[in-house]
Amino acid sequence: MIKEAQKYIVGGVNSPVRAFKSVGGEPPFIERGKGAYIWDIEGNRYLDYIQSWGPLIFGHCDETIEEAIIEAVKKGVSFGAPTKVEVELAKEVLELFPHLDLIRFVNSGTEATMSAIRLARAYSGKDDIIKFEGCYHGHSDSLLVSAGSGAATFGVPSSPGVPKDFTKHTLLAKYNDINSVKECFEKGDVGCVIIEPIAGNMSLVPAKKEFLAELREVCNHYGAVLIFDEVMSGFRAGLRGSYDIYGIKADIVTFGKVIGGGMPVGAFAGKKEIMQLLSPVGPVYQAGTLSGNPVAMSAGLATIKKLKQNPEIYKSLEEKAKKLMSEMKKISQENGVDFNYNVVGSMFGFFFNSILPENFDEVNTSDTKRYAKFHNKMLKEGFYFAPSAYETGFICTPMKDEDIENTINTYKKIAKEI
Ligand SMILES: *Cc1c(COP(=O)(O)O)cnc(C)c1O
Repeated sequence: MIKEAQKYIVGGVNSPVRAFKSVGGEPPFIERGKGAYIWDIEGNRYLDYIQSWGPLIFGHCDETIEEAIIEAVKKGVSFGAPTKVEVELAKEVLELFPHLDLIRFVNSGTEATMSAIRLARAYSGKDDIIKFEGCYHGHSDSLLVSAGSGAATFGVPSSPGVPKDFTKHTLLAKYNDINSVKECFEKGDVGCVIIEPIAGNMSLVPAKKEFLAELREVCNHYGAVLIFDEVMSGFRAGLRGSYDIYGIKADIVTFGKVIGGGMPVGAFAGKKEIMQLLSPVGPVYQAGTLSGNPVAMSAGLATIKKLKQNPEIYKSLEEKAKKLMSEMKKISQENGVDFNYNVVGSMFGFFFNSILPENFDEVNTSDTKRYAKFHNKMLKEGFYFAPSAYETGFICTPMKDEDIENTINTYKKIAKEI
């Protein structure tokens, strides 16, 4: 199907990683999903460790969420006017975070971080921002940045089409390295720091507790706005995302993925004094024809309510992730394959590497060729892992112990061939 798709859609896909470029082979085209499984158009079944890249914490076609979506569709798919369900979802989310007063819904994680940064710049009155190497915050211009010559420098565009003038305001620091952050503050006129507190876009690399605590202090010292990008980790690492784990209060938190229950939703929330700068209360412009869409909001509301009613799921999801990772590590060692991993709540990430990476440079020392082999072989056996060594894996509630055991046994079979 990919050949046919390529005739009409650029590269045959609507988001690049789906094309399997970094692992080779052809992506299966998916027809349907149920629970922990998906089926492709040829009828092959896969155990799904991607779960739409995170959103589907209750798996595919969860009945509660499905019903909420259908009910909403029947009432009309979009009005471009305020609806009750937006208020309900806002209340449910804000209730979880004592430090977040107001929220705004958008349609994607990209929009959430882009808007959060505009707001932070307006609030601080400063143009320079700090981001971390290996963190991904969507594809807006000022965030598509690579390191210049070495870390702690002004960034250069990581994509053609992004003007240098845009990225020169983005300074790059090293993850888990507070000195590199301090250097950036000394070099630029920094008003905002954005970070994934649990980095999920260089496989999975959680921040160290003392590093995040120091980051909060440094931001306080310089009067900079601290943005936690929890588009992936929100409602995934724990019900309150990184807040459950570190207890550190960001000034703005961005959400996406799980918050929409599989529908396109993003959000950013923050302290009142910052958020009220946003239009129509304040002068910072931000808008969206389909923002707060009632169908998407209904899916999000059903998801967040269900999570709040079942907070114990995170423990069992984490146990499953730990079982999978620890057994895969054991098997790897028996086969002379370097393997290290991180697990945070329902998220897991592993590295074919003798060290457990703490930043992007270290992540880049992992064996990605081996990952490609691993991916191809597991896919053939019916296990759908991310088609890139730089992604996080996800456990969903319908995954059974038996599913995890099957994965482990299959890895045992293929480990000597990778
Ligand atoms: C996925 C992701 C984004 C981008 O969200 P989209 O909905 O794909 O635009 C931003 N930040 C983080 C941390 C993400 O994982």
